[in-house]
Amino acid sequence: MAKKNRIEIPEEIAAEVLFQSNRTCVCREKKPVQIHHIDEDPANFEADNLAVLCFDCHRDTQIRGGFDRKLDSAQIRRYRKDWLERIANKREREHGPLTLKPQFMKNDIRAVKHVQIKESSEEQLYSIDAEYAQFKFNDVQAEAELNSRVSSFISKIIDDFRTEASARLQDKIKMRDELSALGWDSLSIVHRISLLTPDLLSIEFVFQTYIAGAAHPNSVTRTLNFRFDPLKQIELQDVFEPSTPYLEALSEYCVIELHSLQPSRWHDPIQRAEDLKIRQDKWIATGTAPVAANFQNFVFVNEGMKFFFDAYQVGSYAEGRYEVFVPFNYLKSMLSDQISQRRP
Ligand SMILES: [Zn+2]
Repeated sequence: MAKKNRIEIPEEIAAEVLFQSNRTCVCREKKPVQIHHIDEDPANFEADNLAVLCFDCHRDTQIRGGFDRKLDSAQIRRYRKDWLERIANKREREHGPLTLKPQFMKNDIRAVKHVQIKESSEEQLYSIDAEYAQFKFNDVQAEAELNSRVSSFISKIIDDFRTEASARLQDKIKMRDELSALGWDSLSIVHRISLLTPDLLSIEFVFQTYIAGAAHPNSVTRTLNFRFDPLKQIELQDVFEPSTPYLEALSEYCVIELHSLQPSRWHDPIQRAEDLKIRQDKWIATGTAPVAANFQNFVFVNEGMKFFFDAYQVGSYAEGRYEVFVPFNYLKSMLSDQISQRRP
């Protein structure tokens, strides 16, 4: 077996693992111990992947061939589960209940994989190219809940697209045969994780759809926000105290920002900036009016929130999507407790 490069386990993670196991091997013999990576990947510091083993037990994990039964990962996990529970129970009996959660366990939330969906149908004349993230953290139930929320959010978009693409089949065939046009629909989904802390997660999705025969593709932004501990999906109304005039405040802020952003996307920026000094742009005024629907697409970022305005909400297709950053400093007095305690 090739020798793996040793990668130092971060000190606080090692300390937590040793503490939970009471510096004792899963075989329960009081012998010198080391921390073992169950999957043998020295870079995997997930709590689930680390076990405290004595040198004898560690040797038993390395058995290849022969008649000795190897100490494999399933056995290690089984022994460890039992042992950690017994230690925790014993401590609770002898010293009372735990009041502090282990720190690193709470921090141990990460995006672990990017799921890719590629699908193409020659019969129904469409293709799909999507990707999204899945997450891993110490709370198994919350992890499953979060991952299923993200994946079902994407599945719904894909299912709807597939249904519509199939419903347009006759039109597409006609386009292809009679107009020799490309009778083909496509959907692409990309995502960006705007923020991932032990307290908050924000994901931004862009769905780009092209419908056969359309003049141009259409881009739609959607966002998902969660708070942790306990896990809860966050909508705009959860961010703010209901009694505060947050919609008016957001509207006011975005109107000013968009008026300063807009001219650079016009053919004559200087003239446009002059015009906007005299009168407000109607499109911006409507798209940022103080109603919740105008501010649904937001993410948390460091020091504030970012709001997205897709083409046609506050401007033309040619102008494209606008993003407005609103600092927490501006929103501070209106934030709900669940957010002001968790904001980055
Ligand atoms: Zn042992």
